[in-house]
Amino acid sequence: MRTTTIKLILPLLALPAASLLGQDAAIDTLALRAHTYFLSHDLLEGRATASRGERLASAYIVAQCRALGLGPVNTEFIQTVPLEEALVLETTDLVAAAPGGEIRFGYPADFIPNVGTASTLVDFGGATVFVSDSKTVAGGGLGELDVAGKVAVTLGPFRGAAADTLTARGAAGMIHLVGDEGAYQLYARSRGATRLYHREADVRSSFLPELPSVLAGPRIARALLEGRSPTALPWTVAVHVALEQRPVDAANVACVLPGADPARRDTAIVFTAHYDHLGIGTPDESGDSLYNGFSDNAAGVAMLLAIARSLAGDRSAPLDYSAVFLFLSGEERGLLGSDYYVAHPMWPLERTAAVVNLDAGAPPAPPTSWHLAGVDSTGLGAIAIGIAAEHGWDIATSSARPNSDYYPFAREGVPALFIIPGPAPYEGLTADSSKALRRRWDHYHQPDDEWAEDFPFSGLARYAGYALRIAREIDAGALGN
Ligand SMILES: [Zn+2]
Repeated sequence: MRTTTIKLILPLLALPAASLLGQDAAIDTLALRAHTYFLSHDLLEGRATASRGERLASAYIVAQCRALGLGPVNTEFIQTVPLEEALVLETTDLVAAAPGGEIRFGYPADFIPNVGTASTLVDFGGATVFVSDSKTVAGGGLGELDVAGKVAVTLGPFRGAAADTLTARGAAGMIHLVGDEGAYQLYARSRGATRLYHREADVRSSFLPELPSVLAGPRIARALLEGRSPTALPWTVAVHVALEQRPVDAANVACVLPGADPARRDTAIVFTAHYDHLGIGTPDESGDSLYNGFSDNAAGVAMLLAIARSLAGDRSAPLDYSAVFLFLSGEERGLLGSDYYVAHPMWPLERTAAVVNLDAGAPPAPPTSWHLAGVDSTGLGAIAIGIAAEHGWDIATSSARPNSDYYPFAREGVPALFIIPGPAPYEGLTADSSKALRRRWDHYHQPDDEWAEDFPFSGLARYAGYALRIAREIDAGALGN
């Protein structure tokens, strides 16, 4: 990821800041506390995509929207996201043959099918060709190497862009070697036994490569590579993928606060946060197997509801544009809810002024630095950078990547920004105490990312306030539309 640090004063914002700070400080931390308490409760079992826990969370969100007086976007608060769930069966195998014999490898001890869809979770095979690491492949390092009809063997960290390159060059499939047993086990555990993808084949995925691929552990790595020049692999491989499929439905949730200006309310500012999380998985050392997802992303949902409450309750300064609060499913399984939404927008994309996405952790104190992802030529990033400059906050930026739900919108040409709280130091704290605080509360994708009575909500109030302020600038015409 390209990042640059910017600390500069930008030209005039559309409204004097002082008139806005008072309103936007009105993020209710008691509401943040209450929403995150419920959404990350054990009873919701980690809100796995298309699970009962996720459905309970969706009902809670609809109830909260109703309590604030917000309506459905069309006639429904819920958008059904039709998915297919594929259970990988243990008869899945990989056979590698060379002159002199063949070796059979088993699932999941030796390899696992990577993420995929109905068209990529399939049998594949062919002669192998070693293509170095993903980064080299994605960076054009294949040169004249002929991979057409062959199975590409790659090593090192996996990148989706490498799969795209290999697909374009006609490869039959990919074996991604993970030489370290611990790293391989982590992949195997985090992928789990099932794969989820869109039931409607024409919904474009931002995330899933179109090349059949497997992640192979150290036993396969040794067998294929050991004692050989990788440029002349003698192996022909055949991968057999056995699946049991069933349809499942997930749900996106949306509610709208209509704009005050009849001439402008058909355009919306859309706030997004995913409300799914990882569900029940591998237990940690304490035996906890429930991935509550407090900071990821009950906190994001709570911030959207707090922003909605602030806007709905502030009759003295309503937005002229409509505000849509969009709670997406399936983010953790590969942006499934947001990819579906942009294929079937509840609010037309051409009348979506901007998307502001909240995800990526709950800061345990007010941040003084941020990472803005999705900064491009649309002007939305410049608005956010300008607000930061006004407060003296440090900003790092990057272009849009498929790392959260803003990406499918950016891909479709809608201005879309992902605000990520920066690392310590936090406001009013020394660097050391900030770091200690962060260490205490940062449990990314762990079972102990859970609600706690003594979690300080001032950081989330600032995070939500920042998003709200951006919306007010857009509403005041800062995007020029
Ligand atoms: Zn997340």
